[in-house]
Amino acid sequence: MLPWVVRRTRLPLLSLRCVDCRSESATTGEGRFRVNANGKLLDVWLLVRCVSCGRTSKLTVHDRAPVRSFDPAELDGYHANDPELVASRLLDPLLARRNRFTLDWREAWRLDAPPAWPGGVWPVRVEVVFADPVPVRPERLIAHGLGLSRSEVLRRIKCDVPLHRPTSTGFAFTVMAGG
Ligand SMILES: [Zn+2]
Repeated sequence: MLPWVVRRTRLPLLSLRCVDCRSESATTGEGRFRVNANGKLLDVWLLVRCVSCGRTSKLTVHDRAPVRSFDPAELDGYHANDPELVASRLLDPLLARRNRFTLDWREAWRLDAPPAWPGGVWPVRVEVVFADPVPVRPERLIAHGLGLSRSEVLRRIKCDVPLHRPTSTGFAFTVMAGG
């Protein structure tokens, strides 16, 4: 079994329309939260910036949530703009749904595959693991990872998930001998 790992190389951009310039790309930049206390309730936002005009907008992370419902470490993380908390909130599908954006993963991830291909022994089984929830089409990932054409992928790969449907859940496939 050969291990392949899909991981992010940076945070993805957001496909989010700017109300000023109509550009559709925003970034979390260095990653900043804003916390606003209102009595015993807290609002938490993640700030994002339009890559075109620089306008800042706020994505709702928590909306009037009782202070006592927060884990103290989480609250510290919001105040300290903890990069890991920025990443985990940005990649949480709930944030995207609530704030109506999608993630733009182009050039924000890589495939780590063992450099040496054990020669001559077929079939070969490969297990793909996702260290980050990057949506990829299995057929493209496999073609890229093995240096095969898409028609070769369709001919030589046996896969437990549909090859054309984007996924960010681990899967495995078998490479049959060519020729
Ligand atoms: Zn803009």
